[in-house]
Amino acid sequence: MDFIKDFNIQLSMGEENTLLGNLSMEPSLLRQIIETQEQDEELQKCYLKAQENNDPRWDVGSDGGIRCRNRICIPNKLDIKQAVLNEAHRSKLTIHPGRTKIYQDVKRHYWWNNMKREIAAYVAKCLTC
Ligand SMILES: [Zn+2]
Repeated sequence: MDFIKDFNIQLSMGEENTLLGNLSMEPSLLRQIIETQEQDEELQKCYLKAQENNDPRWDVGSDGGIRCRNRICIPNKLDIKQAVLNEAHRSKLTIHPGRTKIYQDVKRHYWWNNMKREIAAYVAKCLTC
């Protein structure tokens, strides 16, 4: 269970913004994201390019996850995005938090292209939000 240990260490060393807030990352989801990152050629290319350019925004955490500005990069896979959004949609303290809150929560931990638009489309499908 080294992964869990690393994950916890990372959380406790993270910026306060990453720590607080009611969206907690599921370790199993994070692992799934990292595994998918490894198969995502686009993302790997971006990361290599960033390394070549010494771009400080990109970095790999002790869990092996590629991050941009401390946010985990989500591969362009529908099922992964769905899982992330489902998690934000039913966070611990709120049910149906609405579009702005979901976007804020997701943005705190994750990053992908067009995330704002895709989150809006996701939330639009929920009648309660
Ligand atoms: Zn909802």
